[in-house]
Amino acid sequence: MCIFCKIINKEIPAEIVFEDKDVLAFKDIHPIAPIHILIIPKKHIDSINDLEERDIELVGKMIFRAKEIAKSFDIFEKGYKLLIRTGEWGGQEVPHIHLHLIGGAKLSEDIRPII
Ligand code: 5GP
Ligand code: ZN
Repeated sequence: MCIFCKIINKEIPAEIVFEDKDVLAFKDIHPIAPIHILIIPKKHIDSINDLEERDIELVGKMIFRAKEIAKSFDIFEKGYKLLIRTGEWGGQEVPHIHLHLIGGAKLSEDIRPII
């Protein structure tokens, strides 16, 4: 089982900030900005490359939740960045789709995440 599925199953602890039947969101263990949250589907999907047509709504839910979480962390107005790395050259390290929500600073000036 992958590390994020273990977090979903509560076998590995994480600082969970949102959960419903489809999606889980938790703080990144190595934040690259003041606010760095990972939003994942509870269904295991390796990467964007493995998405099927039936997953379209699920991906929409991930993005919608990112927006709601941005609101709850008070970075909605100032702005933030959403990032999904894919495959080796995209820099993806965990083979379970995850949407990075990165914010809390002016990213292009104060913080330079690897993009
Ligand atoms: P990727 O490079 O695949 O886009 O991002 C993987 C992210 O998962 C990294 O930012 C890394 O810090 C985070 N991460 C890896 N393992 C864990 C873990 O066990 N717990 C949490 N909270 N984050 C993790
Ligand atoms: Zn998984």
